[in-house]
Amino acid sequence: MKIAEVIVDVSAYPVDRPFDYSIPETMEELIECGCRVKVPFGNRDILGFVVAIKNETEVPPDKLKPISVLLDIEPVLTGEMLELAKWMKRETISYEIDCLQAMLPSALRAKYEKMVILETDVKNLEEPLQPFFQHATKVDYKEFEKDGLLIPLKKALKMHLLSIENVVKQKGKIKEVRKVKIAADQNLLQMIYEGLSNRAKKQKQLVLWMQKHVGEIMEPEVIHEETTCSPQVLQAVIELGAAEYIFEEVYRNPFKKDVEKTDFLTLTAEQETALKDILDAMDKGSPETFLLHGVTGSGKTEVYLQAIQHCIQQGKEAIVLVPEISLTPQITNRFRSRFGEQVAVMHSGLSVGEKYDEWRKVHQQKVKVVVGARSAVFAPFENVGLIILDEEHESSYKQEDSPRYHARDVAIWRGKFHQCPVILGSATPSLESYARARKNVYKLLTLKERALKQPLPSVEIVDMREELKKGNRSMFSEKLADSIRDRLKKKEQIVLFLNRRGYSSFVLCRDCGTVMQCENCDISLTYHRYNEKLKCHYCGYEQPVPTNCPECGSEHIRYFGTGTQKVEEELTKLFPEARVLRMDVDTTKRKGAHEAILEDFGAEKADILLGTQMIAKGLDFPNITLVGVLSADTSLHLPDFRAAERTFQLLTQVSGRAGRAEKPGEVIIQSYTPEHYAIQFAKEQQYEPFYKKEMMMRHEAAYPPYYYIALIQVSHEDVMMSAEYAKRCADYLRSSLSFDASIIGPTTAGIVRLQNRYRYQCLIKYKIEPNLIPTFLQLMKIYRTEWIKKGIVLTIDLNPTMI
Ligand code: ADP
Ligand code: ZN
Ligand code: ZN
Repeated sequence: MKIAEVIVDVSAYPVDRPFDYSIPETMEELIECGCRVKVPFGNRDILGFVVAIKNETEVPPDKLKPISVLLDIEPVLTGEMLELAKWMKRETISYEIDCLQAMLPSALRAKYEKMVILETDVKNLEEPLQPFFQHATKVDYKEFEKDGLLIPLKKALKMHLLSIENVVKQKGKIKEVRKVKIAADQNLLQMIYEGLSNRAKKQKQLVLWMQKHVGEIMEPEVIHEETTCSPQVLQAVIELGAAEYIFEEVYRNPFKKDVEKTDFLTLTAEQETALKDILDAMDKGSPETFLLHGVTGSGKTEVYLQAIQHCIQQGKEAIVLVPEISLTPQITNRFRSRFGEQVAVMHSGLSVGEKYDEWRKVHQQKVKVVVGARSAVFAPFENVGLIILDEEHESSYKQEDSPRYHARDVAIWRGKFHQCPVILGSATPSLESYARARKNVYKLLTLKERALKQPLPSVEIVDMREELKKGNRSMFSEKLADSIRDRLKKKEQIVLFLNRRGYSSFVLCRDCGTVMQCENCDISLTYHRYNEKLKCHYCGYEQPVPTNCPECGSEHIRYFGTGTQKVEEELTKLFPEARVLRMDVDTTKRKGAHEAILEDFGAEKADILLGTQMIAKGLDFPNITLVGVLSADTSLHLPDFRAAERTFQLLTQVSGRAGRAEKPGEVIIQSYTPEHYAIQFAKEQQYEPFYKKEMMMRHEAAYPPYYYIALIQVSHEDVMMSAEYAKRCADYLRSSLSFDASIIGPTTAGIVRLQNRYRYQCLIKYKIEPNLIPTFLQLMKIYRTEWIKKGIVLTIDLNPTMI
């Protein structure tokens, strides 16, 4: 008897291990690792994944239960994915089932109804299978079971002669079109013809016509057109058996429009050098990680495209990851215009059905390239030749809930598995990646010049403190207002960027630019409206909101957090003639709204595009000659050690939007702290000096990349309970980790009360800590066996993106 090890769909301790089930004889030849099954668990049947198949088990025969239902006879997860899940589970301290689920489209997590076999290459099928496909293109796989033909069926599936689908219960999971299949039997048609009386003239005509199209499959509309017969006549003839309706599966088309094919560009010398290194690694089968550092507009995408071309020529597949926010049609079209039908896309803008279809194209190896957001890193290609992470510094590559994986780590793991290179691309690499490149862990490739030799735009910084002195209380400096007026007159386009993210707001003196800071840390304090206090999220320090500036005594204290709507109002007051498009969370909620706004702006239906960081990327319109940043400070004073890095990245990205074609670009950055190095270096578009300065800051404060960090969060409905268990947590960590690791806290979390739970946290900084993962696993065990019953929720986030 064969035994399957199954990971069941229950996220609870101590369920996080495989359970043994016996494999019923009928399934023996069919079941494989990576198949979904239904198994008895407690007193119900639940979903599970087969992760191993073996001959023996420790479970006594009377306790051993059989698998109830086999949901897939072609595995939905490859062996690679099962291995990856084991690694991810440990790296991210999460349940294996959560890792497995994260790899699949949501349609496959839904209820299923039945499986059907789709014909693809019937001619080459073995004899006993042939009869099943005489009259249908879709056969329920249970039919084969009845006739004892499951084994030849499985063989045909393996040879890609047939494919199999799960018909999912919810409507619309697989899209079908109705077609008419004319009987394949000439004699039968003749008999029907002869059987019709002369009164059924129309029907006779139709059957006669069908005799010239024996066995053909066509759309009903075509038949109506060619024969001028009515639907009723066709229906009658079908009822006589001269033809039948069949359903053909089609993929939904997530693309609104077709794209024109584009040709390869002749590479610049810099691009050529970079490409050569990548291709060498590909040819050698070397799992090298490249950091492609190229200024905005340097043609990184063209390098990706040509590397992918080489990959396809080698018969391999490529995965391209792009941050969700910049997964605009503009980006995907660049890949589609080169590789056409060979491209699948995966992102959250697609419907559940579209996502499932795109996933199936990959699973059935029908495409060669995937362009997608974070989770596309799990694209089930089996012969990966290249993985690309564009804008590798983006924090959206890190998943915020369990499993808290970083797509970069998964990409590098897969690169090793497939022995293929990984490219991390950015104009502003994360400090972590750049530090690794400097240590030759990654290979650094640099593009210093813009591909079309356009100069980088000129950047000017406006000191908003001076504006106030001049009596200008508006959000627009004189300089910016003048430039806007000038562009409106010239009919050139303007992008206004409101640098605002997250929930928090900071407090600043409008006279001297001082930002209220924590006494103990180099972190700005966050204003809490509910108790009118300023608070440090790192050490818990708290103070009342000052009425006067502690530096200069001024009473002009300002709370930051201006919304796009407010800016829009002021904009229309100042420039009533301007046509303004606003792009933020509010205006892009509807599916496709993001695209529509960009399309309108591209078609020059508006003069000004006003938006949040959403507009910082991907925007590539020739008529944009002015980019204005309303307040560079907003992201600078977030309570996050990466605040300066994020500000530098954002400003560099936004600046890169101006002057991408012939007309030169101008960038105006407004700031109350123009002397800050992040703003100064962004003005010069100088990555290297910024990197050096920021590394010094990180070194002093013992932050990444010098130290790793891990964040442990405890929450409970009762504030005392939360504080108590956070303390226990910290005590446990202090007793288990070496002195090399420093444990900060417990302190209250950024948002203390969230959904009526009070949150405390501990921060761990460490360099080399062999005990770390075992300690976390042990802590999790304590939590899952004891604390969880008390209503505590504990999460561990290694390398959090925001703290
Ligand atoms: P990046 O991704 O580095 O910001 P892009 O790939 O968007 O840069 O390239 C910027 C512009 O330069 C695009 O319009 C692109 O078509 C063009 N371009 C890139 N490489 C070349 C080349 N070798 N020859 C001509 N034009 C190029
Ligand atoms: Zn002041
Ligand atoms: Zn502090």
